[in-house]
Amino acid sequence: MIIGDIANILVIINALIYAGVILLSTISYETFLYNERNEYGNKLISSNVLVDGFCITNKHSVWWSSHAICFYIDVFFCYLLYRCKVDGIRNKLPATIMEPVNLNIMAHFGHGIAHFIIGYVSTITIENHKRISISNIVWLILFWYGFVRAIFSKLSWKEHVSISTGISFFHLYVPIRFGFTYVQTILLLLASANDLSLKKEDKDCFYTLKACIVNVPIGIVGWLEAYTCDSVLIYIGGHVWYDCTIPISIIIYYIIAKTLYIERTMYWRL
Ligand SMILES: [Zn+2]
Repeated sequence: MIIGDIANILVIINALIYAGVILLSTISYETFLYNERNEYGNKLISSNVLVDGFCITNKHSVWWSSHAICFYIDVFFCYLLYRCKVDGIRNKLPATIMEPVNLNIMAHFGHGIAHFIIGYVSTITIENHKRISISNIVWLILFWYGFVRAIFSKLSWKEHVSISTGISFFHLYVPIRFGFTYVQTILLLLASANDLSLKKEDKDCFYTLKACIVNVPIGIVGWLEAYTCDSVLIYIGGHVWYDCTIPISIIIYYIIAKTLYIERTMYWRL
């Protein structure tokens, strides 16, 4: 077993533990409220995260909440990822190495749009029965399509649509405060399990690089957001830091992958 495999297995275990802790903490938090006890005993997960599902600064502002700022920053990072894509083409990097960069541009843009929509609708009251509507189903499928396409790059667009529709169907029934946990858990499970299922000959140093630099940090930042929200993060942007971590990890992956590839091709030419 190589380091990349170990990293991906740890990502899966971490994602499942995170989902379980959030679920149990929410039940515990709501039990305290139900018993009219003011003190929330479990300090592992911030109460703001349990109530809102994210760490949200300025939650009543349409334009300056963490959701809105995530959208602005995600669009900016999509541009940087696009610049990496152009640079990769210029340096003739193989498509397999460029996949995490190329396919995450659309996925991250969809992530940003989703944040803006969540931020917008959370400033107006939405009754539960209105959650299952044609527009919600369509945007959820579009949101998941970007991620599913990025993870299962070898499948056809029909298979991407089928998988996205299936995940979106369950997403509709997930309470809003568990939405972030649902998205993170599904994404990390699918991405790591798909990477683990690659053939042995496809698991090169770039596979390990992606596992360690792109997959692992997402799960760690999830914990940091949940643990430090009430004390630190909510004063400095909240969930924005989580959104920054994903493209920054991909850009770091790209810089290292490009350096390794160029060094190798130069060695082969000698
Ligand atoms: Zn986000």
